[in-house]
Amino acid sequence: MDMMKEKNFGFGCMRLPVLDASDQTTFDYEEIEKLFDCFLEQGFSYFDTAYTYHGYQAEKAVKKALVDRYPRERFQLATKMPLRDFKDEEDLEKIFAEQLENCGVDYFDFYLLHNMGHNVYDKCCKNHAFDFVKNKKDEGKIKAVGMSFHDMPELLEEILEKYGDRLDFVQLQINYIDWEQANVQSKRCVEIANKYQKPVIVMEPCKGGTLTNVPEEAENLMKEYHPDASVASWAFRFAASQKGVFMVLSGMNTMEQVLDNTGTFQNFKPLDEGEYEVIRKVAEIINKKTAVPCTACEYCTHGCPKKIAIPQYFALYNSIMRTSGSFSSQQVYYNNIVLNDHGKASDCIKCGKCEQACPQHLSIREYLGKVEEKFEGQSIIPVRK
Ligand code: SF4
Ligand code: SF4
Repeated sequence: MDMMKEKNFGFGCMRLPVLDASDQTTFDYEEIEKLFDCFLEQGFSYFDTAYTYHGYQAEKAVKKALVDRYPRERFQLATKMPLRDFKDEEDLEKIFAEQLENCGVDYFDFYLLHNMGHNVYDKCCKNHAFDFVKNKKDEGKIKAVGMSFHDMPELLEEILEKYGDRLDFVQLQINYIDWEQANVQSKRCVEIANKYQKPVIVMEPCKGGTLTNVPEEAENLMKEYHPDASVASWAFRFAASQKGVFMVLSGMNTMEQVLDNTGTFQNFKPLDEGEYEVIRKVAEIINKKTAVPCTACEYCTHGCPKKIAIPQYFALYNSIMRTSGSFSSQQVYYNNIVLNDHGKASDCIKCGKCEQACPQHLSIREYLGKVEEKFEGQSIIPVRK
C-alpha cells in the first residue's frame, strides 16, 4: 500500500463498550462485534489496539471479537509495544510473543513503539528497541513499523534523524485544538514527519471526545455552515486534511458513531478555506471554555498510589467550568467516585508519578488542587476512612 496516497479510517480499540463502566475489562462482546461488523461492512478494515488498553486485556478482546470471526486477510491489525512497561531486550521478545498470542495472529500489519517521549527514549536506545522492531519486520512478523509519539517536536526530529531508517510511519496527536498548543505542537510535529517523509496516522482527532461535544455557541457556527454535518465530522476532516496524513483513528463505542464517521471517510473531502475559518472560530470558543485539556487516556492512573480518578475528576471539573461554574449533578458524581474506593483530589501526595506518564504534559498536581477547591469545599463531601 502506498501510504502517502491513501486517506483511510481506523477503529481505535481503546474505549470499547463495557458492561460495567467501573471495570474496563468487562467487555460487552455483543455490542463490540456489532460495531466491528458494521465498520467492516462499510468498507474499512484497520483496527488499532495496544498491549495496555483496557487493563491489558484489549488485545484478547480484539482476538475474540475480530480475529476469531474473520479471515486474516479481511482486516489489518495494529498493536503497540508498551515502552513504559518493558524492562530489557529480553522483555521486548517476551512481550512481542505474548502479543501475537493475545491477538491470535502470526504477524501484525502495523506495529508501534507506544507512547514515545523523553521519559522512555533513553531506555529504548539502550535496549535497541528501534532495531528490535526493524528485525521483527525483516522476519515477516510486522508489515510496517512506526511509533506513537507524544512529546515535543525537537525530540521527534532527533528520533527521525537517528532512527528514521527503522520507521515506516509515525502516529501523532492531531486535532484542531492541539494544532498550535504549546504542550502538543501538532503542526510542528506534522511538518517534521513530512520533512522525513514519514506518513502520519492520526490519534485523538476528537481529543478524547471533547470535539464531539462542543459548547453550543461553537456547534451553532458549524450547523449554520453545514446543517447536515455532525460536529465530529469537522474534527475528522480537519485531521485527515493535513499533509502526509494517510489514516485517522477513532475510538468508537456506538453504532451511531461508526456510521457517522465511516460516512465522513467514504465521501472524504478536505476542508476548504471557508471551513478552516469556521474551525478557527470554534477552536477559540472551546479553548476559552476548557479548563483542563485532558484526553481521558488514563495513562496517569496506573501508578497512582492513592487511586485518584484523575481523568474523571478533570472531566467533571471541565463540565462545571463549561456551565459558568454553576454546580449541578457533578458534585454527586464526584462523591460517588470517591465512595467507589478512589482517592479524593486532596489525597494526592504530590509524588508526580502521574505527570511522568501524562502524554499531554499536564500539571496534574496543580489541576487537582483546583478540583479540590471546587469539589471538596462542599459540606456533602463524604469522608473516607
Ligand atoms: S501526584 Fe498525586 S495524583 Fe499523581 S500519582 Fe502521585 S498521588 Fe497520584
Ligand atoms: S491527565 Fe494526562 S495521562 Fe491522565 S487521563 Fe488526562 S491526558 Fe491522560
